Amino acid sequence: ATHMSAPEAGLEPVVSPQTAVHDGASHELPTKLLLSLAVILIAMWCAVTWLPWHVDGSVFSVSVHTITEFGAIVAALLVFSVAWHARSPGQPGNIVIIGCGFLAVGLIDFGHTLSFKGMPDFVTPSGSQKAIEFWLMARYTAAWTMLAAAIRPIQPLHSGWPRYVLLVAALLWTAGMYAIELLAPGIWPSTFVDGHGLTAFKVLAEYGVMALAATAAYVFMRRKSADLAYSTNDLCAAAIITVLSEACLTLYGSVNDVFILLGHLYKVVAYYFIYRAVFITSVRDPYRRLSEEIEERQEAEQRAAYLAYHDVLTSLPNRELARDRLNQAIADAKRHQKQVAMVLLDLDHFKNINDTLGHAVGDRLLQAVADILTRTLRQTDTVSRPGGDEFLMILKDLHDADAAAPVVNKLIEELAKPIEIEGQELSISASIGIAMAPNDGEEFEILLQRADTAMYRAKAEGRNTYRFFDDRMNAESVEKLSMRNGLRRALELKQFVLHYQPQVDLATGRVFGAEALIRWQHPEWGLVPPGKFIPVAEDSGLIVPIGDWVIEEACRQAKEWLDKGYPPLTVAVNLSALQFKRGEVEQVVSQALACSGLPANQLELELTESVLISDVESVERRLKGLKALGVKLAIDDFGTGYSSLSYLKRFSVDKLKIDQSFVRDLERHPDEVAIVRAIIQMAAGLGLNSIAEGVETLGMMQNLRALGCEEGQGYWFAKPMPAAAFEDWLTHTLDKGTLARVTEAA
Ligand code: C2E
Ligand code: MG
Ligand code: MG
Repeated sequence: ATHMSAPEAGLEPVVSPQTAVHDGASHELPTKLLLSLAVILIAMWCAVTWLPWHVDGSVFSVSVHTITEFGAIVAALLVFSVAWHARSPGQPGNIVIIGCGFLAVGLIDFGHTLSFKGMPDFVTPSGSQKAIEFWLMARYTAAWTMLAAAIRPIQPLHSGWPRYVLLVAALLWTAGMYAIELLAPGIWPSTFVDGHGLTAFKVLAEYGVMALAATAAYVFMRRKSADLAYSTNDLCAAAIITVLSEACLTLYGSVNDVFILLGHLYKVVAYYFIYRAVFITSVRDPYRRLSEEIEERQEAEQRAAYLAYHDVLTSLPNRELARDRLNQAIADAKRHQKQVAMVLLDLDHFKNINDTLGHAVGDRLLQAVADILTRTLRQTDTVSRPGGDEFLMILKDLHDADAAAPVVNKLIEELAKPIEIEGQELSISASIGIAMAPNDGEEFEILLQRADTAMYRAKAEGRNTYRFFDDRMNAESVEKLSMRNGLRRALELKQFVLHYQPQVDLATGRVFGAEALIRWQHPEWGLVPPGKFIPVAEDSGLIVPIGDWVIEEACRQAKEWLDKGYPPLTVAVNLSALQFKRGEVEQVVSQALACSGLPANQLELELTESVLISDVESVERRLKGLKALGVKLAIDDFGTGYSSLSYLKRFSVDKLKIDQSFVRDLERHPDEVAIVRAIIQMAAGLGLNSIAEGVETLGMMQNLRALGCEEGQGYWFAKPMPAAAFEDWLTHTLDKGTLARVTEAA
């Protein structure tokens, strides 16, 4: 009977698929990176230039050179192999360019190593000039590669540009460099003159490399966050170090100079950074992302698993989990000869709170109730919320059903305490139904249905209480169910009939009207009295269309009698409170009058006091609308409800129908005459008619007349009759003018 709200309190947001987080550390420039770079490079500078082993100009021996170059070559080949093999999805083509470029660089550096002065002959004799030529070719290859990687948009390789094209190009390039160097050694200008040092050509050539590397460094720096998976910071660092490395190479006087050593060391460091960039882009980031996309999935799965077994609003177990707990509890109970109670709790009038205070307050209240229930029960018991304003509890380890009662009493007691929500104190109560396992059943659904039946019984018997299920309830609820199903089709199958009971003037015996009373002509059950099915029809809302039919049929019948020449009779129709609240009574009544052609003042509507006391404003509006149509209003069963005098006046009621119970008491308890007299006098004082229901004996009739009651209805005059019988009765009576027994009794 309630809503379930979507925005649920107390929940962390469900992980969104976009939250893949890259810790920006390796991508964010680079103050930190630049600082550490500067420290490393300066430390290397100091170590190389100042340490005592730097004595003369021959510190950079062939073997030291070979070792550093070996490091650089290994780094270059690693760059290639990682970039080539780690084919992560979306790998930028830039990385493949770097990989292939550095394959060429490494191979050319190998030629350089073999040509160093002091190395054995490699095709042509070794020497500074030859080594420098290889060196420059490698440096330019590296610098152009970096620039290309810097400038190219960061995106995967073009599909028409397979990786193999790049690889073959790199190998052809390398072969070309070797061919030039080994087959045509004379085409190079002089780069180094022993005893004099570097030539202008060589220095200019190094400056060219520096310019390319510096440009690449600049572009890398600008592009840094273009793509998270492309480690431009490392590439930028590599390019900067390359500039420094080349700067060292413009300074030396002999090939064994300390600056050559430094330049080579810087080169190794630069290659390391390139390796790092390639490794991060191709291996580390994809793996990290993979493990993040995995972690998220695990979180989402955990969350989904939680949601599948919990109620979002209260975080209590839901119906599914409750089912599981019940099965466990029953299994335990059987082993230890104990019992389990399934306790179904439904808040009384929760809908009112939702309607009047809003759903937000309703939600808070449900959360508060969840807290109270959880607090009150033992930790081993289960509190769950299957939905709406219902809570389902499973009490374990009970000796017998009696052991559940004090627990449930405690729940009712705790719920009776005022609950404060958003500054307002709310009072609530609950109706509770209890089914015991294994006695009432062992299956979740059966126990739940039985607890539900018991809960409805608790509601019917005044709410704010509990009931244990018993078998009789089951029989009743089965009957109710089949009645409800039958009622649904009774209208279309035309199984309803109206009986009419005459209403008589007590002074003259004149028959002035009849009350229309519905009966259900059931094919198997026979004539079902309204007391049996009206409550079911009200429960299911079916009373609205049924009531509409009664109004139409009663109007039609009354007009038929009028047309047949009978004196005008007022037909009284009973309205149910629900019909009044939910239906469109005014419209139905005016339509029935129009359709039948019955004068409005020949229709009387009987309301119960309960109609009057709910929602006074709208009741007044509707009653005014009905009065405006010209129909009469009577209050049925007067004296049993709580209507106040002011309402009677305000709603311009025409008649009070004194309830049968008072009329019956007239003979048995003469003292109660006072009540009937009071009602009659009050009606007279307010200008209303009074009619007594349930007049069964002459004595009653006489008493009523003596008290000043104007009208009567009851078995003593006539029982309710089908239309045809009523017509006969009427004809018979009218033959004599009036109802003889009334006039005779006078
Ligand atoms: P009610 O409106 O108070 O109707 C009077 C009830 O008293 C009728 O019962 C009638 O048969 C019964 N009655 C009449 N004279 C005597 C008598 O002398 N002694 C006794 N003991 N009873 C007498 P019935 O027909 O079973 O209807 C019961 C109730 O069902 C009605 O009480 C009314 O509240 C409801 N009802 C009947 N027809 C309709 C209907 O069309 N719509 C709605 N919403 N309720 C209806
Ligand atoms: Mg009535
Ligand atoms: Mg009545």
